Amino acid sequence: MSLIVQKFGGSSVANAERVMNVARIVTDTYKAGNEVVVVVSAQGDTTDDLIAKAQEINPKAKNREIDQLLAAGEQISISLLAMAIESLGFPVISLLGWQAGFNTNSVYGSARIKNIKPNRLQAELARHNIVVVAGFQGINRYDDLTTLGRGGSDTSAVAIAAALHADKCQIFTDVEGVYTADPRKVENARKLKEITYDEMLELATLGAQVLNNRSVEMAKKYSVELEVLSSLNPIPGTIVKEVA
Ligand code: ASP
Ligand code: MG
Repeated sequence: MSLIVQKFGGSSVANAERVMNVARIVTDTYKAGNEVVVVVSAQGDTTDDLIAKAQEINPKAKNREIDQLLAAGEQISISLLAMAIESLGFPVISLLGWQAGFNTNSVYGSARIKNIKPNRLQAELARHNIVVVAGFQGINRYDDLTTLGRGGSDTSAVAIAAALHADKCQIFTDVEGVYTADPRKVENARKLKEITYDEMLELATLGAQVLNNRSVEMAKKYSVELEVLSSLNPIPGTIVKEVA
């Protein structure tokens, strides 16, 4: 039995149909005999929409309140995905960042993870639950909610994979892997089978937005092998690891 962390970005859970699609991927993985922790982002443009709402009311709103607001986006995703998984007949529980043990510093809007207290995650896995965790968020020492910065759910997934010594960390997105150039812009862009952490970081600096930089740095630090793949097309993606 393997422990697999699967992360799904905002476009992968953008609407009911996509949430059901994710529920099927997750439950197929569980059915194959694995323990599964799922990390999800807010649906579609939810985070941008929430930021716009804040701007409308108070362009100078404190980051603490913005984080309080933005954390709601991921809360919607985890509960809906848990309901979808439940509807397929599988045992599941959703957890907010703080419930999953994410302790961060107090830099609202771009908090750093200090540690993950894995007790609750481990207890839920021991109960044979599929565990759905809100990405992008944690709690600081004042018991206030924090967020990890835009695209932070990738980092949440890598952090869980490191803390639980997961066998695999799969990052599902709307492209089929890591390409030599942006496949949406360059016609003969080629998909890579493997890439090193450093090459991945370089690509990100050049503007590729496949993985959040901090997540790659953390994956490198804790030797978490990543697989970047599509949630819509079930073909092998790109492996990110130390030596490609
Ligand atoms: N929902 C957050 C964002 O849009 C986090 C994420 O997507 O990873 O930045
Ligand atoms: Mg998002």
